[in-house]
Amino acid sequence: RGDREGSRSVTIFSDVDRELALNALELEGELRQAIEMGGQLRLFYQPIVDLTSGRLAGFESLMRWIHPVHGLISPAHFIPLAEETGLIVKLGEVALAEACKQANLWQAQNPSKSGLFINVNVSPLQLAEPDYLTRIERILEEYGTPPAALKLEITESTVLGDVDRMIFILSALKDMGLKLAIDDFGTGYSSLSYLHRFKFDAVKIDQSFVRAMRQREDNTLIIRMIAELARGLGCEVIAEGIELQGEVQRLSELGCMYGQGYFFSPPRDPDTASRLIEASFNVGQETVIAD
Ligand code: C2E
Ligand code: MG
Ligand code: MG
Ligand code: MG
Repeated sequence: RGDREGSRSVTIFSDVDRELALNALELEGELRQAIEMGGQLRLFYQPIVDLTSGRLAGFESLMRWIHPVHGLISPAHFIPLAEETGLIVKLGEVALAEACKQANLWQAQNPSKSGLFINVNVSPLQLAEPDYLTRIERILEEYGTPPAALKLEITESTVLGDVDRMIFILSALKDMGLKLAIDDFGTGYSSLSYLHRFKFDAVKIDQSFVRAMRQREDNTLIIRMIAELARGLGCEVIAEGIELQGEVQRLSELGCMYGQGYFFSPPRDPDTASRLIEASFNVGQETVIAD
């Protein structure tokens, strides 16, 4: 990240023009506190949509830090800090627990819609913890959430530890009944070797490829190839970063079954997300989830 020692630049969502240079140590202490106290760290939920029918299929949960002084801080800033300081382990558990609670609530509110899933982002550093599996098992047990309602999104752009151990952990998670997705696909170094050695349930095509298509319409080769490869391996294909109406049909034709992006909805707070579920299910018509 190339930051000078002891300083870190933090972009605040609510005021993008203002860049605050916050003391990294101070921020670390505050993040630690926020994790312990609860309340400041909240999951927001971004719809994942079936591109052919326009129906809501599930959500990706995305962490937000509502800082008492600095306002909304982007995960792009505090997740790397959490990873550098080891706080990611606890933060990841907080996220999983929160997602379990939300899944249980939505299941209770919409019993006929048991297919709705919540994706939870997992840092490769969490997977590297020796007792990661035990920790996950404990949380699933505590909340009694059906594991199949959760999909763990794993980015492997950071190659950590040996692949064999990673495959062992992923297999164990799958044996627990959890679904697994490979996130930001196409940006990592070992994406292909992972796909070859482990059967993920879903592949998420990185938004940079969708952006490239937005910039030049015929920039579709990589998307088409990833989609074909993923489908050939029996994985669901999700396109990230859909911002325009025209991209929906285009990506569907290129072989992406699901998509998410600002065109459908940005990440929403839990109450707003609940209303999206009710609207899409009660009205029972297509694409009612867009603003
Ligand atoms: P990600 O998992 O790849 O999440 C997708 C990011 O793209 C999110 O950014 C989302 O808000 C953003 N996005 C969605 N639709 C669009 C679009 O149409 N256009 C554009 N330009 N962006 C879009 P966000 O919420 O800022 O999160 C950034 C990253 O932080 C995530 O990337 C993920 O790697 C990490 N992250 C967020 N929450 C967690 C968490 O609970 N645990 C861990 N380990 N990482 C997290
Ligand atoms: Mg993700
Ligand atoms: Mg992603
Ligand atoms: Mg990402």
